[in-house]
Amino acid sequence: MDLTLYNTLTKTKETFEPMTPGRVGMYTCGPTVYNYAHIGNLRTFLFEDLLARTLRFNGYDVTHVMNITDVGHMTSDADAGEDKMETAARRENKDPWQIARFYEAAFVRDLERLNIRRPDVLPRATEHVEEMIALNRQLEEKGFTYQTREGLYFDTSKDDDYGKLMPRLDRDNQLVGAREAVNVDPEKRHPGDFVLWFGNKPGHIMQWESPWGVGYPGWHIECSAMSMKYLGETFDIHCGGIDHIPVHNTNEIAQSESATDKPFVRYWMHAAFLNLGTKKMAKSAGSILTVQALIDSGYDPLAYRYLCLQAHYRSPLEFRWTWNEDGKTGRAQSLDTAQATLQRLYERVSHAEDDPLANETAYTQAYNEVLGYLNDDIALPQAVATLHTYNSPRLWRAFDPVLGLDFESRAKPRVEEAAPEDVLALVEQREQARKAKDFARADALRKEVAALGWEVADSPQGPTLKRR
Ligand SMILES: [Zn+2]
Repeated sequence: MDLTLYNTLTKTKETFEPMTPGRVGMYTCGPTVYNYAHIGNLRTFLFEDLLARTLRFNGYDVTHVMNITDVGHMTSDADAGEDKMETAARRENKDPWQIARFYEAAFVRDLERLNIRRPDVLPRATEHVEEMIALNRQLEEKGFTYQTREGLYFDTSKDDDYGKLMPRLDRDNQLVGAREAVNVDPEKRHPGDFVLWFGNKPGHIMQWESPWGVGYPGWHIECSAMSMKYLGETFDIHCGGIDHIPVHNTNEIAQSESATDKPFVRYWMHAAFLNLGTKKMAKSAGSILTVQALIDSGYDPLAYRYLCLQAHYRSPLEFRWTWNEDGKTGRAQSLDTAQATLQRLYERVSHAEDDPLANETAYTQAYNEVLGYLNDDIALPQAVATLHTYNSPRLWRAFDPVLGLDFESRAKPRVEEAAPEDVLALVEQREQARKAKDFARADALRKEVAALGWEVADSPQGPTLKRR
């Protein structure tokens, strides 16, 4: 079955065809590890996990690379302000290296809690500075750069198709300089030009030698250098949040294609936001809504995963959260509902014995229907609704490699232990007594069975036995 994906670059749904049959190279912009991940950011990572799982479900051998940004991401995406790592280091009175390792570990833990499969490669920016310098050199040799006292810039006027990822209107706005930035470098030539290498920041703790002076790489060059190192100069899929389209991903394309003269990425995919409405209590001011906060509030992180399955990745997901007085826990009605549905689902899926899709033809038809939604630009809301309609434990399990709801360990079928002969004999005697309407004797026999550690119950198919 064909898989179609919406490509931000062409602004259409396209049939997916990888460069190498059977294999997919996929790069996703990773976290800047200066704080805990917000559940809104995690929605994007969750989408990327669902995409990678869908590709694998379709038989592709996927190499998923996600970077860890541990230097160079400024407080404004447009190079202004200060490196987020340094701000965090000051806030917590640690050095930026400690901050980076601490929040990277917290991020990986959050992925696990949401049953997001760990990417195959998680390269750290600080461990790839050499590759970034090499790429900047290539750009410099080809005449795409200029240097100011602040650092090395990419000259967007030299790149003919700069901004092609953006909608036309955004592109024009950006090129006339509608983007407001504080502390703009007065030597910068065009408003869209961006930093490849920050020099002249003597207070910055993370520093490296470079042909443009001691300094550190810009955020955008990090993703170009690391994605091409692990996936090649042209690769299949690049993902990010929609906020990455106008600046970060646009600049990645400019750098990579100017350096290599090859198309950088074949399919660009972007996830919409989680629109978070929070009711703040005094104590929650400044609190980030994290996975830990969900757990502390009594939620299963997979309830959040389930909730995200119910909105298409290109549609915003509205989420209302009310903090409690303690400023650490809270409630969301949509999560209450998601959690209750998920619990019922685990219960349902553990009862494989009464499956409405017992007939193979009916099962195959239903399976293809769900797969059809999944392969139509990852239409998970329709896929999940269809799974609910069929209500088949076998079908739910079949799609769990994509859904990631962990039926394997959470919805275990109750394996009936074989009862010993003496217990079975007593059950048989009880059946005879019941048929003879000798209920006093039947009840006495039930108690004898109970004394041996078994519980007998009656069903339309006859008596059932289970361990007490
Ligand atoms: Zn990136």
